[in-house]
Amino acid sequence: MSKQSMLGILLASLLVTVPMAGCIDEITDALDEGESWGKVGGLTLACLRSDTYSKMIVEIDYAPGYAPESSTVSLLKQRLEQVCDKPGGISMNLNEETFSETSSWNADLVRSVGHDTMDESPLSGSTLRWHVIMPQGSYSDDSVLGVAVDASTIALFGDSIDDANGLFNRPSSEEVENSVMIHEFGHLLGLVNLVYTSPADHEDPDHPGHSNNDESVMYWAVESQSLNSFFTGNLPNEFDADDLADMEGMKSGELSCSDQLWRP
Ligand SMILES: [Zn+2]
Repeated sequence: MSKQSMLGILLASLLVTVPMAGCIDEITDALDEGESWGKVGGLTLACLRSDTYSKMIVEIDYAPGYAPESSTVSLLKQRLEQVCDKPGGISMNLNEETFSETSSWNADLVRSVGHDTMDESPLSGSTLRWHVIMPQGSYSDDSVLGVAVDASTIALFGDSIDDANGLFNRPSSEEVENSVMIHEFGHLLGLVNLVYTSPADHEDPDHPGHSNNDESVMYWAVESQSLNSFFTGNLPNEFDADDLADMEGMKSGELSCSDQLWRP
């Protein structure tokens, strides 16, 4: 075996644990909750369409020292603008926040702290508001970098994201944060098959709620055989054609959506 392929295997084994692991367990939890905050994907139509909610605010509350990278904020805005019809605009509202929990998180805690710290309710007037908390500490399973826990609430765990960057800082923790943020918003947008059934066969059968395409930001994780694209540090941070077609289908009504808190 050449030195190069040895290095490849070494990188592969390090990167297997990279992002996005574990978020589906929490999605399943949230799907069982059925409370007024809705299920993950429960505000997909409110986001994709402009009928009632013509404006959107993304509230990002971060612990001191845990502010998102500016690239994450601008990329998120760009990706949402790509798919959500918001003629009144999508604004990013960043606030420093001291959270009541600083070490060990679980889905219930993300929900309760997220709801307590949110400035306004998700649906208010003509504004749809989604909420990200970026606290200190890590998830109970510390391989989890981000979670979506109901129709409007996400947490990103910066300490775990910093630990997840690859050898030689490729991918960098900034790139990991970029991808995890978009990935979790993809879940709030119903991907993959959370509140609809795709006509395309792109959900990974072993990882429900996730894509089988390693060029989609919704890719479930990284398997050794599909690591080529990750060697260069290029984590996917875009929705692929199937993701985009699914969202277009939901928006047009061609694909029926379940569990919606709002319908046109
Ligand atoms: Zn996920």
